[in-house]
Amino acid sequence: MTNPTYPVADFMRDIGDVEVSDDPRIIRSKSRDRYGVSPLLRQMLKGKTADVVVTPHTLDDVLAVARAAVRHRIPITPRGGGTANYGQSVPLRGGIMLDMTGYTGLVSLEPGRVRARAGTVIEDMEAAARETGWELRMHPTTKKEATIGGFVAGGSGGPGSVAYGQLQEPGNILTAQIVTMEDEPRVLELEGPEAFRVYHTYGATGIVTEIEMPTAPAWDWWETIVAFPDYMDVLRFAFDMANAPGIVKKVMSVQEWPTPSRIAAFADLVPDGHSIVSTMIAPQSWAEFAAAAEARGGVIVCRSKVGEGPYGRPLTEFVFGHALLHVRKTDPRRSLIEGFLPGPDLPALVEKVRARVGSFGPMRLELLRTPEGIAGAGSPMFAFESQEQMAEMVRGMQEAGARVSNSHTSNVRGVGKKGLDASDDAFKRMVDPYSLLNPGRYEVDPASDEKFDLELPTNTWDERVAS
Ligand SMILES: Cc1cc2nc3c(=O)[nH]c(=O)nc-3n(C[C@H](O)[C@H](O)[C@H](O)COP(=O)(O)OP(=O)(O)OC[C@H]3O[C@@H](n4cnc5c(N)ncnc54)[C@H](O)[C@@H]3O)c2cc1C
Repeated sequence: MTNPTYPVADFMRDIGDVEVSDDPRIIRSKSRDRYGVSPLLRQMLKGKTADVVVTPHTLDDVLAVARAAVRHRIPITPRGGGTANYGQSVPLRGGIMLDMTGYTGLVSLEPGRVRARAGTVIEDMEAAARETGWELRMHPTTKKEATIGGFVAGGSGGPGSVAYGQLQEPGNILTAQIVTMEDEPRVLELEGPEAFRVYHTYGATGIVTEIEMPTAPAWDWWETIVAFPDYMDVLRFAFDMANAPGIVKKVMSVQEWPTPSRIAAFADLVPDGHSIVSTMIAPQSWAEFAAAAEARGGVIVCRSKVGEGPYGRPLTEFVFGHALLHVRKTDPRRSLIEGFLPGPDLPALVEKVRARVGSFGPMRLELLRTPEGIAGAGSPMFAFESQEQMAEMVRGMQEAGARVSNSHTSNVRGVGKKGLDASDDAFKRMVDPYSLLNPGRYEVDPASDEKFDLELPTNTWDERVAS
């Protein structure tokens, strides 16, 4: 039902012929994302919906929506593919759901860079780049549904981050075009460090209308799974391959036994008791990689071109957030927290963390390049029992030397992956003076952020702002 506090009918009249729907079924489905993966978010976000869904197709449409929303003081929650997993595209205070999937298409393509409208599906953007021998440096594992605007505003990294780092590393987001929520909305072009303002702020720092990303050479990748009987052996092997400057790789995802047995598509492939690394290696690096695996006692379980593996889909759909998705099909209680294990001596830190919290479940780690060396992102894949259990694991990981963000809450400060400083607050005040963008997710006054049940003692992953 339409929220009586917002003059939605007046808003709809003012936006003219911009596509709009107040069909409750469409509103319900567009007001959800993939937060259901968290047992806690399922409770905390229950029943939160928008009042109306608006689908712009041109920049003028976006400007008309922003202008009318400001005039009538109605909140806007931008949305791309709706694949976010912290519930950050769920409107907390009703209002307008701005469905950006109607605003698509490539804007420019040059060696080393590609620019697209915010609603462009990442896989489409990448396919266009690949035709010219380039691909995105990194993408989320949801690239078939996720949009480039949603990735920058709500994601953090993915396959590719073992070579190029996460989105937060300087140079990984080139340009962002945004529409402001001022009395007379403006179109701003943000470059370099200014583009970073919109990273991981859940749409609260401007409606993103275009994104330019850097690209990398597109190789005809080998996908491969290498198994070792001992977890620390596979971790050290993956760490050394991630560090090896001459080995061209795209992903290093390490899963401790028995996780491989809990992923149905891997269960018959991986030998009993073996932990694995799932990786992508450029053809020119294969001989060195395979020799190293063999010399260290690893078993190459399979090798194939992208999408042709015996597990039935691209290997990137078994790493990062997708690993948990598959495990939950065989054991729905499994959950994760987002630990960050900084370098330079990742294996030593993993040993400490595992000694402290390994009893909670098998370790899951994605390797990432950072300025301090190869780091790991992950935690034990534990069987969820209670918030207290989760808090105990967070404390244990922190005591052992990991930083932890909270993937079971839904605002920028609560999740803790993006550091915010006074210059971010000033930018937020300028672009959204009436605090209408995804309200509750990032407010200048932290006391105005939405409160959620689970406040874990988190640390920021953003090295630009100390935790
Ligand atoms: C199984 C699974 C695996 C995942 N793997 C990864 C991964 O590898 N790496 C990763 O980083 N994430 C991952 N995610 C999270 C998510 O899929 C990605 O971050 C994805 O890029 C989000 O894009 P989207 O278009 O679906 O964004 P949405 O979910 O629609 O939105 C995400 C956030 O961005 C805001 N937003 C969307 N579009 C705009 C816009 N145009 N302007 C301003 N704000 C906007 C929304 O308000 C929301 O706060 C995963 C999620 C799942 C469920």
